[in-house]
Amino acid sequence: MGRYTGPVCRLCRQVTEKLFLKGERCFSPRCAVERRRSTPGSRGGGRPRRLSDHGIQLREKQKARYIYGVLERQFRNYMDQAFRSPGVTGEYLLQMLERRLDNAVFRLGFAESRNQARQLVQHGHFQVNGRNTDIPSYILKQGDTIGWKPSRKEKDFYKALVEDIPRRPVPEWLQLDTEAMSGTVTSLPSGEDVMATIQARLIVEYYSR
Ligand code: SF4
Repeated sequence: MGRYTGPVCRLCRQVTEKLFLKGERCFSPRCAVERRRSTPGSRGGGRPRRLSDHGIQLREKQKARYIYGVLERQFRNYMDQAFRSPGVTGEYLLQMLERRLDNAVFRLGFAESRNQARQLVQHGHFQVNGRNTDIPSYILKQGDTIGWKPSRKEKDFYKALVEDIPRRPVPEWLQLDTEAMSGTVTSLPSGEDVMATIQARLIVEYYSR
């Protein structure tokens, strides 16, 4: 499955919101959203464009896609599964996105950004339940353990990370073992874990039209 390879700041500017796609660097005053509150291609300045209901829903859907680095087709698949699920559609969608392996690697603090987490997973740095897993979209289950491949523990990148961890708060559904440098899915993520940034209701409305 392909992925967006263009400048990530452009995605934030498109939805006129900081999506923190570059990790720590997003706190710099050089952040493109801070510097220029305009959408790419527009001339900047002036009042922000007023969005229709459809525009607001579309923007929320794009936001979720950009944050998790998911292409439209895959996002649509998640949505179809969410519609078929017995629970609350929006919550199920967010839960699926959160349970992606690349997201868990990021949430555990093993990577600066989801983009970096995706690359680390693709380059075969991780195991799930002791088995090599290099699929970023792998959906984790309750009880799964994410650990580093033993051979990767010799790398300088890994050694620097051990010194620095934990740098970020880990969400409640994950448990970080700083000794073993592994994480366990202790429960399924709740919608509340991500609801603050993404309004799933708007996304469901977008796909229900
Ligand atoms: Fe987005 Fe971070 Fe770029 Fe700011 S610095 S526009 S938050 S990716």
